[in-house]
Formats: sequence, C-alpha cells, structure tokens
Amino acid sequence: LLVASAGWSSGCLFYDSRWGESTAEQKHAAAHLRPAALDAPRGATTAERRTASIRACATRAYAAETLAWQERFDELIRNANGVLEPALGLTLRNAGTTSWTPEHGEGGLSEVIADLPSCEGADTDWVVALVQSTPKVVADFHVLGRGQTYSPYLAVRAPNDPAELEALTRALPDLDEATRQKLYSDRKRHKTLTLFLHEFAHTLGAVHRTAKDTIMSPSYGAAERGYDVETLTLLREGLDIRLSRANRYAEVRKYLEDHAAGFVESDRQEQVQFLARWEQALSRVSPSQGTLVEPAAAKSITDPPKPVEAVPFESMSKEDRQTFDEAIKIEPTSPREAWELALPLFEAHPAVHEVQELRCRLAKERKFYPAVIEAHCARLGALQQQ
Ligand SMILES: [Zn+2]
Repeated sequence: LLVASAGWSSGCLFYDSRWGESTAEQKHAAAHLRPAALDAPRGATTAERRTASIRACATRAYAAETLAWQERFDELIRNANGVLEPALGLTLRNAGTTSWTPEHGEGGLSEVIADLPSCEGADTDWVVALVQSTPKVVADFHVLGRGQTYSPYLAVRAPNDPAELEALTRALPDLDEATRQKLYSDRKRHKTLTLFLHEFAHTLGAVHRTAKDTIMSPSYGAAERGYDVETLTLLREGLDIRLSRANRYAEVRKYLEDHAAGFVESDRQEQVQFLARWEQALSRVSPSQGTLVEPAAAKSITDPPKPVEAVPFESMSKEDRQTFDEAIKIEPTSPREAWELALPLFEAHPAVHEVQELRCRLAKERKFYPAVIEAHCARLGALQQQ
C-alpha cells in the first residue's frame, strides 16, 4: 500500500481520501498508520557514556493545552533516552521545568529560539521551549519545531489533539472506538518523541535525509524508526562539539562533503557553507576561546557590534532611569527578576555604559551559557568611554 508511507508526509493531507470505502479497507489502513517502534540501528556502537541536562520552558498556551505538562515532559525525556542511550550513549536528565513568556510571542519559532536564552538556567546543556500548537494537523517538522545548529536551543509545539483525532476519525469512521483510541495514542506518542528527537538532532548538527524511515526526514512519518547511520556519525561529532567543547567543525564539513548521498542536497550544501564560514571565524580567535564558543550563540565573533561612543546615563527617559534603579536594587537578591525588569533597556540603550554593564554582569550572575554571556557583554566591549 503506497499511501501508508506517504501517510503523514504530505502536509495536512496525511490521510488518503481513497481509504475508508469499506470497513476491511479501513482496518488495513489502520494497520499501516500504526507507528514504527523507535530503535537504534543494529550495530550502533556506544562509545563514551555521557549524561547531559535539559531544561523545559513552557509558554502559558502550551501549559493550557497539555494536561500535566511537567509529567509529560519527564515522560518525553525517558522515552528519548530509550533512543539516545543505545544509539549515542547519551542520557538526558531533566534539569527542571518552568513557565516562560517569550519576549516576541510564540507565533514564529525563529523568534522563540532567539528569546530562549532568557529562560536558560545555570549549567544546563540544553533548553527546550514548549510552545502552543498549530491550528491544523501538520507534518512538516519545521512548522512543528526548530533546533538551532550547534546550540543548546530547541523549540517544539504542542500536538493539536482535537485536530489529530478528528482527522483520524474522518479517515477511519467504522473502526471501533477502542482500536481508534489506541491507534491515536500510539501515533501521538510516536510523533511527539520523533519531533523532539528531530529538533534535538539539529542542535547537534544533523542535516535532513531523503529516506522516509529516518527521524531526519524533513517531514514526520509513522514509518520513522530511528536515526540513520550517517546521522549518527554527525550526532557523535556534535556531542564532542557541544559537550566536550571539541573543535570538530572541519571534520564534520569533510564528512558532509564526502558523503553526499542520502542527504537533502540543498540542506547539505547550506551546512557545508555554514561550517566553512564558522571555521574561518574560529581561525580569527584564540584557540582557547574558539573551542568554548558555539556558532549559534556567537554573533559577537562573526558579527561584532561596531565600536560606538558612549552616551550619558541621563540621556535615558525618567521612566527608564527608574527601571534601571529598581533593577539595581533587586539585583543582589534576585538577578533573575532584575534581568527581566531591565531586559527592555538592553537593546533600547546600546550606548549607555551603565545599562550595558548591568546587562553583562547579570548575564554572568545568571550563569548563562559562556557564549551567551559573551554575546550579552559584546555591546559593553564595543563602548568607547570619553
Ligand atoms: Zn528538520
């Protein structure tokens, strides 16, 4: 049955209208909609065993949509470990959950990712934004989630339960309720886990694959069984880069150049170019600094702010000066609240020394990721005092 593998991968039309003619056909279709078991490929070597932490930041909309979302997140991490441990020797540890309001809303995932450092906790290896669902059933992974290359940041949307269930009911109207519910919950678990593992892999430098049965297919499909062998190679390098601070960018680029087959060609080329640019940028910084910096968060190196002349503190409005004073007052007891209070000032007053100093200091006090601290301190470094 050809449509089975085409299943979820064709945008919203993941159920074929040719189905559902007879009950027998529906049962047949249901069998093909059953998700594959996620597994590690046979012979996947588990080299080094590592444990890493991940923190979850849920928006209000996500929390409203997702019953007992903290427990669900815990369950997701357990299920993810069922794939990551045998495949990569990696165990994720839940480093805590918190509710969070992204500064620029949750409509666009790029903006969500850009805002995510504001939710980063102390010493977390990854931070995932959990955001509201899409209004329709969607298969395109990049509408459902985002993972920033070689960074701690990823975002995933809540599943739209009513829409998914309705689509399944429409496709298989004669199926008995218990079978349909079982199929529905199996698919939901599979899709949630696959989406997370897909975006997580992007943070380790994974590139889309053309095969339909790998997690790195650009679209979700019930046939996805796990990471393919080439992806696992990229992920192992990515773990060295992210967790051991190893400078493996050139090796990854060469691997992608030598193993073109099976990758989505445009994405592969884009990644090769990205890595080449990043290698160049790294060659301009000291080796000790270079290995500490991740490309995604290191705008300050590839795109340093231009030196500007400082303007006096008094150039700010009275309201902004009051906000600044309040932030200074609560800084000793709560750097986090001070950060949130002063956040609007940081980009509004790029040339006020006191503001940029506070920003840099709070970023350090909040123990952001090293590259994130560096990015927040970049404006201070670019300020020229008279
Ligand atoms: Zn993707």
